[in-house]
Amino acid sequence: MKKFVADLHIHTCLSPCAELDMTPRRIINAAVDRGLDIIAITDHNSAENTGIAVKIGRERGITVLPSMEVTSYEEAHILALFGSMENIIKLQEIIYGSLSGVNDAKAFGYQLKVNEDDEILEFNDRLLIGATNLFVKDTVNIIRSLGGLAVASHIDRGSFSVLSQLGFIPDGVRFDALEISYNTEIRQAESIFSGYRHIPLITSSDAHHLDDIGRRTTSFFLEEASFDEIARAFNGEGQRRIELSNGVMG
Ligand SMILES: [Zn+2]
Ligand SMILES: [Zn+2]
Repeated sequence: MKKFVADLHIHTCLSPCAELDMTPRRIINAAVDRGLDIIAITDHNSAENTGIAVKIGRERGITVLPSMEVTSYEEAHILALFGSMENIIKLQEIIYGSLSGVNDAKAFGYQLKVNEDDEILEFNDRLLIGATNLFVKDTVNIIRSLGGLAVASHIDRGSFSVLSQLGFIPDGVRFDALEISYNTEIRQAESIFSGYRHIPLITSSDAHHLDDIGRRTTSFFLEEASFDEIARAFNGEGQRRIELSNGVMG
């Protein structure tokens, strides 16, 4: 098995709360500079910048998972990790159909779809910061039925997490992994969440600024840097292992 360093939670300039210089090109430059092998592009309720990120990633020799951070009806954030554009586009159609409202760029920030030269193609005017009308249970089922991996975002945070919004992980909801944020030290998190030891833990940066990328990483010991291999690691198949680290900068 080989070690691959991953940061599976990065927002681009499409997320209203992210810095405008978070273009796929600059994110991938930063990720390559910091020695990351795998990243996931996880904008709020949209995947419009993932296609270009996958393309640039291929050119630069880094694996980019086209992904999304979905907001459930209960305002819990859920990472949807995918291995192909085809399936993330299907998820995007469902999410767009479940999301209402128009973005107020002055209040929440601009939502930029860009090309590989960092030029603006479109201002997305959907209320991406809003909640969908999908319950946590439905969101997880949809992600998994499309062949994606469902990860409960930043479960240690006091807001916008499955645990902060519901208090527990409901029966019958099958997350592939749970994510610990930058705010909680890893050993402490492993102890706090030891009740969920049967579900793999990961940690990621939740980057909204270029400097954030890689501040938390998860090392995967896999045969190759691919979505399928990450899925097998979450399932505990073979000798695959997952190790949390304070990040390439920490
Ligand atoms: Zn979040
Ligand atoms: Zn996020």
